[in-house]
Amino acid sequence: MRGNSLETGHRIKRGRMNSPMKFDFSEKPAVQRVKVLFPLPLFKAYDYLAPTEDAPAPGSFVRAPFGPREIVGVVWPEPADASVPVEKLKAIADVIDAPPLAAGMVDFIAWAARYTMFPAGSVLRMTMRSGDGLSAPRAQTGYVRTGDAPARLTPQRQSVLDAAGADPRTAADLAAAAGVSDGVVRGLSRAGALRAVEIDPDPPFDPPDLDANGPDLSEDQQYAADGLTAPIREGRHQALLIDGVTGSGKTEVYLEAVAAALARDETVQALILIPEIALTAPFLKRVEERFNAAPAPWHSEMTSAARRRTWRRVAEGQARLVVGARSALFLPFPNLKLIVVDEEHDGAYKQEDGVIYHARDLAVARGARAGFPVILASATPSLESVVNIDEGRYGAVGLPSRFADAAMPDIGLVDMREDPPEAGAWLSPSLVAEVNANLSAGEQSLLFLNRRGYAPLTLCRRCGHKMTAPDSDTMLVEHRFENRLVCHHTGFSMEKPEACPNCNAVGSLSPCGPGIERVAEEARERWPDAAIGVLSSDTAPGARAVREILASMGDGEIDILIATQIAAKGHHFPDLTLVGVVDADLGLAGGDLRAAERTYQLLAQVTGRAGRAEKPGRALLQTYQPDAAVFQALKNCDRNAFLAAEAEGRKRAGFPPYGRLAAILLRGRNEPALHDAARALRAAAPAGDGIEVLGPARAPIYRLRGEARMRFLVKARRDVSIQAYLDDWLPKVKMPASVRRVVDIDPYSFL
Ligand code: ADP
Repeated sequence: MRGNSLETGHRIKRGRMNSPMKFDFSEKPAVQRVKVLFPLPLFKAYDYLAPTEDAPAPGSFVRAPFGPREIVGVVWPEPADASVPVEKLKAIADVIDAPPLAAGMVDFIAWAARYTMFPAGSVLRMTMRSGDGLSAPRAQTGYVRTGDAPARLTPQRQSVLDAAGADPRTAADLAAAAGVSDGVVRGLSRAGALRAVEIDPDPPFDPPDLDANGPDLSEDQQYAADGLTAPIREGRHQALLIDGVTGSGKTEVYLEAVAAALARDETVQALILIPEIALTAPFLKRVEERFNAAPAPWHSEMTSAARRRTWRRVAEGQARLVVGARSALFLPFPNLKLIVVDEEHDGAYKQEDGVIYHARDLAVARGARAGFPVILASATPSLESVVNIDEGRYGAVGLPSRFADAAMPDIGLVDMREDPPEAGAWLSPSLVAEVNANLSAGEQSLLFLNRRGYAPLTLCRRCGHKMTAPDSDTMLVEHRFENRLVCHHTGFSMEKPEACPNCNAVGSLSPCGPGIERVAEEARERWPDAAIGVLSSDTAPGARAVREILASMGDGEIDILIATQIAAKGHHFPDLTLVGVVDADLGLAGGDLRAAERTYQLLAQVTGRAGRAEKPGRALLQTYQPDAAVFQALKNCDRNAFLAAEAEGRKRAGFPPYGRLAAILLRGRNEPALHDAARALRAAAPAGDGIEVLGPARAPIYRLRGEARMRFLVKARRDVSIQAYLDDWLPKVKMPASVRRVVDIDPYSFL
């Protein structure tokens, strides 16, 4: 592969290094060569000189000259290139005072780069992206009360003393709380009533109390927990799936496994990955309650100070339990011994920007390489995981029923051809009747439609013109709340024009089809006295707004919640007994290879919100194709029949998990150059046994953000290394400067 051969087995010096070591090469001491990898889009590490005596260990963070600047990189355990004369090499400037990356982490970064075919430096960058995690934070001064009264006590001084407590607060913080100037705080310090103390800007995380608040597990749960803890105690790799319906106690069970891993010794770390940032706050609270200590969080909505704290404390080994989004996989754990991937089937684990990777697959590989177990949890496991279990590569434990005998919801289908909504409405008479029944019974309903905005298409009634984005081949979605037309692929938006831009007819642009704003409009007309909540990422922008709506739903303050998939996952609404799916066919329309599987997973999740407590739940799916296998499987609660049919189709087509796929996207503004490059690449494709190259073809969204896009799909038998084939093929054609080439191994998006 692309020159990233990695020597493993280097011993890595742990702990802090003397700060900062400046090397002085003027005396020409004995030197040796080391490789340094920089967090830049570079495939290879570069040679530098370091004194033999004090050569930094592999994994050490070092500063070294690169081009006109000095950059922080990592000593990379690859053999140096002896052919470059010593005089040509520059010296490492200094070693950063931070714990070196552990051997397992370095190995994982190098492997992930080879697997995803992205530059090792780009993968390293994901590990180093903690902002200022490497520089020692500035200590702050805080003040605490001494208990002594100042000689002179003004009302201002009294309010500062009232605001001060046992925990130190900064002068600015105290002054703001008391509504006075900083000078009052410092005056109290001089007067002996406050004492200055140093505040740790990155306070350590509390150690988890493993025995705190563990639940009494049911017999099934205990059996499952025992299955998970065996490989943990034995310290060996195994990928294990907890396969259990929503509400069966998967979380309780894997938290037992986390406790077992952390109990092995005090340096062990564990990571729980969750797919959705909107879910982190309640989930963090739940984990905190279980272990009597808040876990270290990691996601994109954290402040840079909070990120730095988690990064540093993880690197030191002090933070023992991390709960985070997919990128937490790249935190610099020195002693990671367990990863849990919750909702392992979730598409959010696939990162599509920058380095393209699937966090579940990388987590399993990380555990396999480092020899620790990886637990996957889902009520609707991916076909990949199901086949891995069938073929003996993964283990599985099952939780067949809901905890405390809560029943699974009854799922019914509404045939929209037989039972259509009135003109201009989107809810069928049967669904309306069920909502009415729920309102009279004082129970909650959820109307689910996985489409933001008011209407997915805006059409001119006079000339038929469709409103599309100016720089992309995408339909603009009307958002009536903001009176704008929005592209859901790029975020482009414009005010909705009065006149059709094609025929200039005024007032002729009309909305076609529903988004959740339009369903909300219908619901408000039908049920004017009901408390109606609307939840999507743009009706409730920001994590806090989402949390507030979810909380009032949980507290029973909302009668009817109209929501996109934000509400589908992980939430527990005890009084929710009816889920209505407004357009069950929606996810099937695009027709990529996982369309039916994703539809099944999403609808099983969302219908699984109903009846999680004492009251039984029911769900109605509105569909124009009630005979489709996916809806029949949902109605009959027959997941296995659905998976078997899916598996059969994929096997016949040689698609994952029975074959491998890689997508290659070429994009650029210069269309002739793009098409020439695509043709040249096609012509250079070598013949390979068990390999098929499809394309080039225009991407389904051909123009996006002003760039034209061409796609190849490479299909390989499972025993063939698709990376090796691409390594052989792709370098044969140099792309012109105007064309960008992106490789996506195991693609999930085909747009
Ligand atoms: P899942 O992760 O499978 O959806 P959860 O672990 O969230 O299920 O469990 C569903 C609900 O049942 C939660 O409120 C949880 O606290 C409760 N629960 C599950 N198992 C137990 C148990 N053994 N003791 C007490 N409560 C439990």
